Amino acid sequence: MTKTSFAPGNRRDRRKPRIGNAERDVIALGIAIAAIILFVGTGGAVVPQVVRSLTGYGLGPDKVLVNALLLNIALIIFGWRRYRQLLEEVEQRRNAEEQARILAETDSLTGCLNRRSLNAAANEMLAGMEGRSKRLAFMMIDLDNFKRINDFNGHSAGDQVLQQSAKRIEELLPDGALLARIGGDEFALVVPFEKSRRQVIDQLATAIVANISEVLEINGIGVEVTASLGIADDEMGRGADGSPGDAQTLLHMADIAMYQAKKQGRNHYLWFEEPMESELRFRSEIETGIRRGIPLGEFVPYYQQQIDLQTGELSGFEMLARWNSPTLGIVKPDIFIPVAEAIGAIGELSESLIAQALEDAKEWDPGLTLAVNISPLQLRDPWFAQKLLRLLAEANFPPHRLEIEITESCLHENVGVARTLITSLQNQGIRVSLDDFGTGYSSIAQLRSLPFDRIKIDRSFVTNLIENQDSAAIVHSIALLGQGLGMPITAEGIETGEVMEQLRKYGEMKGQGFLYGQPQPATVIHDWLSDHKLLDQPQAAPASVTTSDANKVNTAAEDKADTPRQAGNA
Ligand code: C2E
Ligand code: CA
Ligand code: CA
Repeated sequence: MTKTSFAPGNRRDRRKPRIGNAERDVIALGIAIAAIILFVGTGGAVVPQVVRSLTGYGLGPDKVLVNALLLNIALIIFGWRRYRQLLEEVEQRRNAEEQARILAETDSLTGCLNRRSLNAAANEMLAGMEGRSKRLAFMMIDLDNFKRINDFNGHSAGDQVLQQSAKRIEELLPDGALLARIGGDEFALVVPFEKSRRQVIDQLATAIVANISEVLEINGIGVEVTASLGIADDEMGRGADGSPGDAQTLLHMADIAMYQAKKQGRNHYLWFEEPMESELRFRSEIETGIRRGIPLGEFVPYYQQQIDLQTGELSGFEMLARWNSPTLGIVKPDIFIPVAEAIGAIGELSESLIAQALEDAKEWDPGLTLAVNISPLQLRDPWFAQKLLRLLAEANFPPHRLEIEITESCLHENVGVARTLITSLQNQGIRVSLDDFGTGYSSIAQLRSLPFDRIKIDRSFVTNLIENQDSAAIVHSIALLGQGLGMPITAEGIETGEVMEQLRKYGEMKGQGFLYGQPQPATVIHDWLSDHKLLDQPQAAPASVTTSDANKVNTAAEDKADTPRQAGNA
């Protein structure tokens, strides 16, 4: 199929064909045949009689025979008409089948091929390629911000974006190319090209990306959509033995390249390369590792101290997740949290970590708080607050000792939902901090309307505060903002005494960072707290810990034989 991948205009004509009853057809055929036999028989008797009577040599024809002959003629006419009707019905049936085939092979929204028909047609093209000077390029195209358009402008606008995008791609295709929509906002192309002219495909890909990114007018509104594109050619799909790859393999390779193009900032195209595949394999290893590792308890909480900068006293710990993977060692959350989010496992993972953290923190001095990070996806769960309260109740942990940290990205999705959630958590006594402040786009107005208990300044501003005047100015103004709004501040990423001294000049705040300690596993924290009489032992009066004492958590950790080697680098 060539550019005719758009189905004929009449495909929506879904009139039901009048298919006759087969039994009736057989009877009609029988009647017609019997009539013809009788016609020959009666005609053979009647015609000589008529001729004889006309030439004056005999009597008129036998009336009965004449009637029989006339009846025969009527039956033959009936049979003929029935025969014509049957031909018509067969034609209609054929048309209906053709329409059903078109419907089964095309995507009803855009008229492109669908996944199944693309695979079949592409495999047919591949089979015809052997020994020819042509090659086939397989392309995957994914619209970058389609979900947002759908959510913002409605599904009908989303449908129009898909139709227009299909049209824009189609207009650029050379003869003999296939175009299919194979998923929500995913299109696939198969384009033949001369072996020596690979640049034709580069030009086509560039043009598709450019064409799609031109503003679309939908219901009088300008809508912007971009596309990421991945390409593989049939040579790339060959097995080690030189056997040609099938359409599915080649589309998968194009998909891997498309995924990379998306990762590299979208709105451009990439050809498939081998290393992309190993990266994808790594990701899938992580995916299965997460699913398997949660029930096996491979995900464990580490803790980093939070210090009151003015007094130098320990105020609590932030729980930071680590994956103790049997194959990869200790893995940091930046690697597995986004994957857990993508595969829908973040809720289960987080609940398992929080449950462990509550058990750990129950043994600490009751004056120490526990802060946990919550993914924006978890906040979308309408049962999130209930789940958290259930965990608290099961652990018999006082809600006022728990702090949850949410990032600014939670606020963009739906400020109303965020506000309701924050308030309901606070009503239960749980405190809520805004994490990584300064990296997103929270407006001051938004901040004022959301009742956060604390703002955490992102470590990217704190760590280089001494060398970078812009960072210093930002941190100072966030400190002032916090004072103005009555929201306490925590500075994270304090690595040196100089930074700590500077921060103290900006007013009261808490701090955390490698200066005070690396995140450590529960056993290390437990032992250290025990050494400092900071476990929940009613008989021992809780001692306060100073900054210099707190420094020793690291040293304590290094002394522990059971500390994972990587813990020090975490
Ligand atoms: P975050 O909440 O901003 O956590 C602070 C990160 O900064 C931690 O990285 C910590 O190890 C690191 N850090 C602490 N002090 C310093 C310092 O002085 N200098 C520098 N350069 N870095 C410092 P980590 O543990 O790798 O966590 C990364 C992020 O992963 C966290 O950022 C948090 O957003 C996320 N995360 C961690 N645990 C969880 C979890 O249980 N659930 C969710 N949803 N996210 C988590
Ligand atoms: Ca945090
Ligand atoms: Ca942070």
